[in-house]
Amino acid sequence: MSLTVNEIFYSLQGEGGRTGEASIFIRLSKCNLACSFCDTDFEFGKKMTLDEIFGEISQYPCRWIIWTGGEPTLQLKDEDVAFFKEKGYRQAIETNGTRRVPAGIDYITCSPKQQFGKIRTLIPEVDELRFPIATGDPLPDISILPKTKRYLLSPVFDNMNVVQDNVDYCVELIKKNPQWVLSLQVHKLIGIR
Ligand code: SF4
Repeated sequence: MSLTVNEIFYSLQGEGGRTGEASIFIRLSKCNLACSFCDTDFEFGKKMTLDEIFGEISQYPCRWIIWTGGEPTLQLKDEDVAFFKEKGYRQAIETNGTRRVPAGIDYITCSPKQQFGKIRTLIPEVDELRFPIATGDPLPDISILPKTKRYLLSPVFDNMNVVQDNVDYCVELIKKNPQWVLSLQVHKLIGIR
């Protein structure tokens, strides 16, 4: 069993409900969308066996993996998740919601970019929904989204920089729609990965 890995790094989760928790990020190659605001280099990668990935991440004291991308569900299978669970890892995933999430994932962040109406049938319930929002973007209809306890709006940044217009726009949206909560990319604000 192998996965094409773009990068592995150890840092703190910078967004959403797990903000501040130490996590090992495993970025898998490839995405099935091409969002205009995407700031992630996910095209390239090297094939690694699960044992090789485990060999690399076991140097860290942390036992939380975040599977990210690109779109990690293009590669990650139930048996990959089971392998790392058996090694004692809890596993989060950051998905755009266009594909089924493998069994055994402990924390699902769904960050939909399109096709909102189809996501609920693929993934009925998630731990958080996080929407990147730029000025003028509409709020999606909650009734067609997966169930969650956390509806998060994340103002789109310009790489590492706050875009104040986007922040102001999100703040006004949330004041009018208080079931939503502001989520900032804290890792960018404090200058870490
Ligand atoms: S879904 Fe995510 S990784 Fe894929 S293109 Fe959009 S922002 Fe980039």
